[in-house]
Amino acid sequence: MPHSAAREMRRPILSIHPYVPAIEQQGDVICSMASRGDCDHKLIAEVCPEFSDGTTPRWWVCGEWLTSHSSAIAHITTNGFQVPAVP
Ligand SMILES: [Zn+2]
Repeated sequence: MPHSAAREMRRPILSIHPYVPAIEQQGDVICSMASRGDCDHKLIAEVCPEFSDGTTPRWWVCGEWLTSHSSAIAHITTNGFQVPAVP
């Protein structure tokens, strides 16, 4: 796992909004795992983490991201998905 991903996931997840259908990565809208160009999967969801400074950034993620982060799986198991996001 990239170091950045491990650091990010210390933030609790507030909500996960699926994209229906999945969208291609383009411009600044890239997978949270793709900062080093190592992901070209379609984006399937928008993850809203909670930051201690009160900001609410968005992370765009692919299915591989979701299924490789245990905290994301735990969130989905407990809370499910929220309403689909509009890209
Ligand atoms: Zn990805």
